[in-house]
Amino acid sequence: MNKSKKSLIFLIISIVVVLISFFLHQYISLVKPKKNVIIMGTSADFPPFEYLKNGEIVGIDTEIAKHIAKKCNDSELVIKDVSFDSLILGLNQGDFNFIVSGFTKTEERAEQIGFSDSYFTASQKIVVKDSSSIKGLSDIKGKKIGVQIGSTGDSFCTEQKLGDIIRYDKFTEATTSLLKEMTDALVVDGFTAEQIVKNNKGLHIISKSLTEESYCIGFKKEDKELEKIINEVIAEMKQSGELDRIVNSYMNSQEDSGSQDAGTKFTNKEYWDYISKGLTVTLEITFFAMILGLLLGVLASILRIISKSNKKLSFLKLLVNFYSTVVRGTPVIVQLFIIYYIALSGLSKNPILAAIITLGINSGAYVSEHIRSGINAIDIGQFEAGRSLGISEKTLMSKVIIPQAIKNILPSLAGEGISLLKETAAVGFIGVMDLSLASKKITSITFEPVFPLFTVALIYLVLVIGLTFALNKVERKIKNAQN
Ligand code: GLN
Repeated sequence: MNKSKKSLIFLIISIVVVLISFFLHQYISLVKPKKNVIIMGTSADFPPFEYLKNGEIVGIDTEIAKHIAKKCNDSELVIKDVSFDSLILGLNQGDFNFIVSGFTKTEERAEQIGFSDSYFTASQKIVVKDSSSIKGLSDIKGKKIGVQIGSTGDSFCTEQKLGDIIRYDKFTEATTSLLKEMTDALVVDGFTAEQIVKNNKGLHIISKSLTEESYCIGFKKEDKELEKIINEVIAEMKQSGELDRIVNSYMNSQEDSGSQDAGTKFTNKEYWDYISKGLTVTLEITFFAMILGLLLGVLASILRIISKSNKKLSFLKLLVNFYSTVVRGTPVIVQLFIIYYIALSGLSKNPILAAIITLGINSGAYVSEHIRSGINAIDIGQFEAGRSLGISEKTLMSKVIIPQAIKNILPSLAGEGISLLKETAAVGFIGVMDLSLASKKITSITFEPVFPLFTVALIYLVLVIGLTFALNKVERKIKNAQN
């Protein structure tokens, strides 16, 4: 066996070992019995109900959730921070057991999930800059209004046809936009409005209440047992005065809403923690998706070649063409949603796994096309010459065509690897905290977008340059080994 064959076999074995250990790890974490764990779903940008403080989610709602966990056989409380508009979806597909997120009970929402008794009444308010000429509802018509996507503030502004509504994932982003005068007003729940105004100079609330709402806890409609426990907890906390005590302590505490305070509570260490964790996730997804893409692309190409030489297997060609056309003809974000929310919904709740599978499948389609065009670029005369000499199709492909095709394919495969790395930025849409989402998260805490965004852009650039360099080196090595 020559040296290049040996190193190829070594490479394949190492890839298989890494893949097996990765999937084993995922499998073990899936089947591991999760005893006495109860999961709360929330969107932690809503002080004083839920927000980040020193990297931890705290607030009135988390205190209530602790009481619920205690009453559920003293379960351990796990808090999942997701985007506000995916709370109902996450609950219904079992990502968490209940929603506590300053969540208003509305008719539309009550069609999809169950709601507890009310634990708090609130209303929507308008926040503007001190210099603004807006004095009431009639003045904001036609102005740029920031809201959180899917919130009752969003529904109110939409129903009232209030004009140019700009929908943000998080209130913190909407607040940043108001501060930077990218919007003229912010419509948000009153108590959160107070926290925003308290922690950001130059803003004030217009006193008129726009709506009347009740915050309730959400659970799956069929989860009657949990409904009973939650309602009991709310009743007990109201009766004992515990709820009032918690609300007052959070409402009056300057200290507790610190995370909204233009970054002063966000240490350097926390900042780089987010970045380094995001970077690890980005690299992990890129690496495994690249391997999966390569395997699928090679497999699709082999099926294509087999189906060419055997007419009975022409369905394989159809299958591969279907795969390649569908995957290359639809946006990767849509594919990500389909895999995560539909294909894997009953099997795995692991968004990183969904990201790897999606990007691997996506990349496989492109890899198979690169291989196809690499083979097509070879002069047809070589096929004819080989066939007329009586060389079998298999020998012709493996000894003559493929070695030349590899040379044609390598540069485009390297390009595919680089696009894959950049495409991983889409995984934030299913809540994977990769490098891009980490920068967004930092921005939403510090209200300062310039530094995190440029840092992350620079890291991507360095990664791409490094990857280009490494892939060029591999390409040159393979070419030299062939000569
Ligand atoms: N109360 C609002 C709603 O339910 C906003 C809640 C929130 O942003 N956490 O839509």
